[in-house]
Amino acid sequence: KLASFHAPLSSETARFLVDSVDAFLFDCDGVIWKGDKLIDGVPEALQTLRSLGKKLVFVTNNSRRSRGKYAKKFLSLGLDVSEDEIFSSSFAAAMFLKLNNFPQDKKVYVIGEEGIVEEMELAGFTCLGGPEDRDKSVQLKSNSMVEHDKSVGAVVVGLDLHVNYYKFHYATLCIRENPGCLFIATNRDALGHITDTQECPGAGCMVAAVCATTEKEPVVVGKPSPFMMDFLVKRFQINTSRMCMVGDRLDTDILFGQNTGCKTLLVLSGVTSLSTLEDPSNNIHPDYYTSNLFSIVELLNK
Ligand code: PLP
Ligand code: CA
Repeated sequence: KLASFHAPLSSETARFLVDSVDAFLFDCDGVIWKGDKLIDGVPEALQTLRSLGKKLVFVTNNSRRSRGKYAKKFLSLGLDVSEDEIFSSSFAAAMFLKLNNFPQDKKVYVIGEEGIVEEMELAGFTCLGGPEDRDKSVQLKSNSMVEHDKSVGAVVVGLDLHVNYYKFHYATLCIRENPGCLFIATNRDALGHITDTQECPGAGCMVAAVCATTEKEPVVVGKPSPFMMDFLVKRFQINTSRMCMVGDRLDTDILFGQNTGCKTLLVLSGVTSLSTLEDPSNNIHPDYYTSNLFSIVELLNK
């Protein structure tokens, strides 16, 4: 797809944008919050769009929580968002297995946190690994072996703050030795905001490690993969040409919107600065950009 040129959002284009879409899809970190801190003006912006009859959907690549836990996070920040408006990459991984008729007698090995395990169990799948293997270690003696379960039919990799050598070894054995074992990545973000103060390594580094040991590429279910969009379109029956994807990252959010035919709005409240957007080496251009969600309210009221 040809890169469209980014324009700063104006009163006129804000009205046009709001009139031409039925749903706004919001990335979370960098748009709604930063780490655990709500971004200023977000409640007013969401309220304004809801009062205009827009469907609001929240799409996060962060697999650490389940949809239920995200709903609690929204509530704790004073935002009334229901579980079925939230699409996390943890949920997407479970839906991917479900839609592909993953057999219930096969198991899922997880490099990742509670969010993935919770969503897998809600979908009826049995997990190994994840938080349970946080303290496992490998005995490096000449005759020591890691025994892996031959009924593991999928390995799911997301951000794991307790990743260790044992988990990498186990995941590698499943993918290399169990015939037909799937390799699924929740997302490949290189960096994320675990706290609101600093960028930290994201799921991408753990995914890369498993790519290296298996010489395989994963199925990615998070942004910018279109997988979640297919699911969203079926669920809400809204054509992507009537959706606007709002995000702070060019290579996940804006690319996701563009890959799926949405209108795109970059907000500068997260990881992307205006100078990055305008750098000649950047080839991902949103339709519009603006400073933060609240500026939509200000522009509509002008
Ligand atoms: N993955 C992890 C582990 C994160 O901490 C974050 C941001 O906090 C992300 C992904 C990106 O999340 P989002 O798609 O909401 O920006
Ligand atoms: Ca983000």
